[in-house]
Amino acid sequence: MYNADSRFAGIEPFETKIWLASPTMHGDEQKWVKDAFDKNWITTAGENINEVERLIAEYIGVNHAIGLSCGTASLHLAIRLAGERLYGIPKVGHGSLEGHMVFASDMTFDATVNPITYEGGEPVFIDTEPDTWNMSPDALEKAFEIYPDVRLIVVAHLYGTPGKIDAIRRIADKHNALIVEDAAESLGATYKGRQTGTFGDYSVISFNGNKIITGSSGGMLLCADKSDADKIRKWSTQSREAAPWYQHEELGYNYRMSNIIAGVVRGQVPYLEEHIERKKRIYDKYKEGLADLPVTMNPFDTHHSKPNYWLSCMLIDENAMAPMVRGEQDQLWKYEIGKSSPAEILDALSRFNTEGRPVWKPMHMQPIYRSHAFITSCGSGRGQSNAYIKEECMDVGADIFRRGLCLPSDIKMTEEQQDVIIEIIHRCFE
Ligand SMILES: *Cc1c(COP(=O)(O)O)cnc(C)c1O
Repeated sequence: MYNADSRFAGIEPFETKIWLASPTMHGDEQKWVKDAFDKNWITTAGENINEVERLIAEYIGVNHAIGLSCGTASLHLAIRLAGERLYGIPKVGHGSLEGHMVFASDMTFDATVNPITYEGGEPVFIDTEPDTWNMSPDALEKAFEIYPDVRLIVVAHLYGTPGKIDAIRRIADKHNALIVEDAAESLGATYKGRQTGTFGDYSVISFNGNKIITGSSGGMLLCADKSDADKIRKWSTQSREAAPWYQHEELGYNYRMSNIIAGVVRGQVPYLEEHIERKKRIYDKYKEGLADLPVTMNPFDTHHSKPNYWLSCMLIDENAMAPMVRGEQDQLWKYEIGKSSPAEILDALSRFNTEGRPVWKPMHMQPIYRSHAFITSCGSGRGQSNAYIKEECMDVGADIFRRGLCLPSDIKMTEEQQDVIIEIIHRCFE
């Protein structure tokens, strides 16, 4: 299968695997977990939760941060809250978005959009812009022309890079729409000096094991109003009313953060800046080391954005793409002198015991969501083939998915190891 082996002569596989992004612990985490044990707060309440909620609200600059079991649960409650605000309280057994379309980022992790479906809504996918790999404001405008009644937008900041969130907010306001902001990957990133997580009517962060800081799992919903924060705390603990018995007047969930998990997060928060600094060095080193190849790094708005550089990704120039075809679960690639493909590079990386990953496959290309509407900056993109449409109308997400890949971005990777990875990528283009 690998027909150009000699190109890799002299490179040894890494002894221990270098991951895309794995947890980086510092020691304080265990101290706070032990504190939870010592005080016997082994539950979904306790000092660690209170403290991480305070620390994160202060760091991001929001009034309220509510600790929940994961980012996905936080998105679910954020989207339900938005749905109730827009359309009223649904009958028990019905979602709050039943019968309603919701505009959503297309090139993102599926956890961004699944909660729309949990709530009975229908995600309509908005194509990506090439400047930050996030939701295209032009495509969003088009979507409102086609579906003027939509009132909710769920928008993510991919790979720690803030999207064009000012433009998206202007469009949302013009159409009286709410924004749920998915900042799961972008904790610590800023746009025009403001933290991501402050731009949504409701915003969400994640402490999943692969994120910039972690609790092993965990997430938070961020909001401005105390009444919303109170509601989320109540919903996330089974919607118990203040009665002597278990009294339920609203649908409940078991989504609250554990005080043990919160201990891990509490130990990580002081290292967020350090992690971002290290991730930035990784990104800068790839950018410099790959500058002589026909590739570009995942882009950001250098005037207005400070990404958290969670993942370093690269895009191969069209004219340097070697043949590659992808089926639903498999791919084939072919060796060609002076060219390469994401599949070839990912195979090479894995051969040397390091983990890369294709760019997140856009939601409109996912079998589960393939029948949903997809809007490009030229309007409806469903069924369009790149070969038949104008350059400016192309399906940007599909193009980035085809030519892009995420590189090993683990904080514990040494500079020497990263040099070897950069060398492996060079050999792929030989
Ligand atoms: C990780 C992630 C989530 C989900 O967070 P969990 O804590 O894993 O549930 C949501 N959206 C995006 C963009 C993510 O990367």
